Amino acid sequence: MTETALPEVLIDKFDRRIDYIRLSVTDRCDFRCVYCMTEDMTFLPRAQILSLEELYRVGKAFTELGVRKIRLTGGEPMVRTDVMSLIEKLGKLPGLEELLLTTNGAQLDKYAAPLRNAGVNRINISIDSLDAERFKRISRVGKLEKVLQGIDAAIAQGFERIRLNSVIMRGYNEDEVLGLTDYALERGIDIAFIEEMPLGEASDHDRVDTTCSNAWVREEIEKKYQLVNSTSKTAGPSRYAQVVDSKSRIGFISPVTHNFCADCNRVRITVEGRLLLCLGNEHSIDLRAILRDANQTDDDLKRAIVASMDIKPERHYFYDKDHAQPVRLMNMTGG
Ligand code: SAM
Ligand code: SF4
Repeated sequence: MTETALPEVLIDKFDRRIDYIRLSVTDRCDFRCVYCMTEDMTFLPRAQILSLEELYRVGKAFTELGVRKIRLTGGEPMVRTDVMSLIEKLGKLPGLEELLLTTNGAQLDKYAAPLRNAGVNRINISIDSLDAERFKRISRVGKLEKVLQGIDAAIAQGFERIRLNSVIMRGYNEDEVLGLTDYALERGIDIAFIEEMPLGEASDHDRVDTTCSNAWVREEIEKKYQLVNSTSKTAGPSRYAQVVDSKSRIGFISPVTHNFCADCNRVRITVEGRLLLCLGNEHSIDLRAILRDANQTDDDLKRAIVASMDIKPERHYFYDKDHAQPVRLMNMTGG
């Protein structure tokens, strides 16, 4: 029997080209941020999560289907034992143009140099407060000092771009918009403000009370800085503005107040090997079953990925009462 040839690119049924994957390498983390996790998290047993070899096979299959950009995320990627060996292998994949990492920065003082050497182009570092006590309240356990050292270490390595990520929440840190912006600008790096998303239930607050719109965040920044909307179009929920007379850009990631779905170019792979076709919906396929079936080859894996394009939803429906809301927390989703 002849198999149909595999395509060189992934196109979904709404004609969107999927060339970006977010690969979650762990659900674990050394922090417990209030918007992301509950305080008493239980994590997945080892047997349920993809091995480093399986994660590599997934990355390779996608790049062979035209994916050019891989972002490693989690959980906290840097807590996965031996994660550097995976990153080094992914960095050598033919066709991969960008290898990116999202991290809480707590271990970057140690890992910034090896990450750069492994071919990581850009890093996003999450930081929600510049006040040590408040930082601890939001992350529940994190030490601000370690993250600040990590940011400095990343800057010293000369990554192509470094972007800070801040989730601004009313009652927690809404008075730090300008402070965080100043901090990024002083270092010539970017900063993105992310609207808190309704992924799973937050245990310390009701998200309806805390969610700050990016329109409000932008007004705060414009009290001090002049912003010019960037013309460079990025697929997805980020919109950028250039700060006048500065190297830095400000990103506004507005999944709640801005529907970005028409430009969507990405899918996510959870650490259990679930290929999640949309952040705000449950449509998915089980890649782990294929990876662990001795009768299935890497071509079978690729065929399943190609077929999944038919079930990628058109859009998310965050806060729409007529549609079920995701029960997955962000650490299970891959941020
Ligand atoms: N641990 C890494 C970190 O914190 O950067 C990577 C994983 S984390 C899930 C990725 C990003 O998702 C972080 O910038 C975090 O602030 C963001 N995030 C987590 N839960 C969120 C939520 N409910 N709404 C919006 N952003 C969230
Ligand atoms: Fe950990 Fe990142 Fe979630 Fe914070 S946002 S708990 S650092 S995975």
